Amino acid sequence: DRIARRRDREFNEFRKRIKDTERFKLEESVFDEATYAAIYKLVQDGHIDAFGGPISTGKEANVYTAKAGEAEVAVKVYRINSSDFKDMRGYLDGDPRFEGIGQDKRKVVMAWVRKEFANLKRAQKAGVRVPNPIAVERNVLVMEYIATDGDRAKRLNEVHIENPETAYEVVAEYMQRLYDAGLVHGDLSEYNIVFHDGQLVVIDLGQAVTKHHPNAGDFLERDCENVADFFARQGMDVTGEQLYEFVSGE
Ligand code: ADP
Ligand code: MN
Repeated sequence: DRIARRRDREFNEFRKRIKDTERFKLEESVFDEATYAAIYKLVQDGHIDAFGGPISTGKEANVYTAKAGEAEVAVKVYRINSSDFKDMRGYLDGDPRFEGIGQDKRKVVMAWVRKEFANLKRAQKAGVRVPNPIAVERNVLVMEYIATDGDRAKRLNEVHIENPETAYEVVAEYMQRLYDAGLVHGDLSEYNIVFHDGQLVVIDLGQAVTKHHPNAGDFLERDCENVADFFARQGMDVTGEQLYEFVSGE
């Protein structure tokens, strides 16, 4: 009918607009038909107005900035054809929130993105500073853009840390709060913590698992090892075991 035809036409124009943007030509493979549709839905719902540039091209997802009214947001677009989807499947095991997802690639990626959104919410509620999650649609996540003077906030590996003791205390406290809320980050290191306005912000919670996950203990151990090693390189006398004890209370 007419309304559907009009919607199709609007969608096609929208898609063309994204495709014509110079910087997206390189990335066309990221945006399959269904991804355009998901982005279009986010536009219609008022979460995105216009795309900015890419800020990261990762193994599983690309992150872009976008305008949303006056605000700038970060948009994380997961590739459905991510080669690492088998790994993703494993991170959903034992998670009561995602039972019965099965082996379907598309479903696994979509569950993953919803999981990242839910993890951000849970972390936020537990008092851990993370990007505020705004919306999720299929394989696309919209969240607060952590930026200083318009530039993406630097990761801990990219900045000089004036006061490692304080930073370590904050990270340890965040890890404990997360653990008390039933979550283990699972990929915590200086690469997934950004520094912004004198605050530390934890990012990239897609792989975070609940304590029910069969490998939750191992993941926590690895997180503690990564974090302690980093701060040891900043001259601090800390070990992964100490941090593990602090975080888990064991
Ligand atoms: P990946 O799985 O590819 O590591 P991340 O979520 O860590 O995905 O994002 C990749 C990079 O994009 C980060 O290292 C960070 O520099 C930037 N980034 C991601 N999310 C945000 C955000 N909300 N605000 C600012 N920068 C972000
Ligand atoms: Mn990351």
